[in-house]
Amino acid sequence: MSDPQYEVYAIKYAHHARRASENFIGGDPHDGPMPLDFFVWLIRGGGVEIVVDTGFSAATAVRRQRDHIRCPTEGLALLGVDSKKVRDVVITHLHYDHVGNFDLFPAASFHLQDREMQYATGRHMAQPVFRGAFDVEDVVGMVRNAYAGRVKFHDGDAQIAPGISLHFIGGHTMGLQVVRVATRRGWVVLASDASHFYANMEQVRPFPIVFNVADMVEGYARLRALADSPAHIIPGHDPLVLARYPAPEKALQGIAARLD
Ligand SMILES: [Zn+2]
Repeated sequence: MSDPQYEVYAIKYAHHARRASENFIGGDPHDGPMPLDFFVWLIRGGGVEIVVDTGFSAATAVRRQRDHIRCPTEGLALLGVDSKKVRDVVITHLHYDHVGNFDLFPAASFHLQDREMQYATGRHMAQPVFRGAFDVEDVVGMVRNAYAGRVKFHDGDAQIAPGISLHFIGGHTMGLQVVRVATRRGWVVLASDASHFYANMEQVRPFPIVFNVADMVEGYARLRALADSPAHIIPGHDPLVLARYPAPEKALQGIAARLD
């Protein structure tokens, strides 16, 4: 039996203006504007509905000086998804821009790597360089979810539905995972922060927020191995995603892109 063919969407919920030198270890010799977009992703089809990451709230955007466009759950609602009914959420890693808002998914189980919880609750959080992109209340909230039996822990690669699998990469954080999805155009890989921009993986110039640089660089090759082509890899924060992929409908131009 062949794998199902899922619809896959990137949904933009926030934006941040910054310079290219902030997006690469060692800076950028041609420094100029290189903004970040913030996304959550949706996989659906054949009765399966999986949300990948949950974004951050308007309050967090103020605190961290990001431009919040809309609550990610409102973006999902534009595609007909009721966050209160979603049963499976993949958390690629526990950084504030990927796990905030988890409380808006009261029916969900959260798929997380063992090593990500270990990282976010362990010795490295004593260092500002590693804890800077974590919000302690998000992490504590996910610990509470673990005690409530709502975290599905994975140790490495795991299939969570026919044609949908999680793959441990690490690098950016200790337990970063990516998602591989069967679609009508082949295997698409939601890279999340395994590559923030196309340029990080294509030019092998790692992003400066990193736990292990070697694993991050190895991760670029892993992404290529998992995807049917480099054009099947979706970076986690690149505004080019909305430029390269069509909106699912005219009204969603600049808000969502269809990746399958
Ligand atoms: Zn991120």
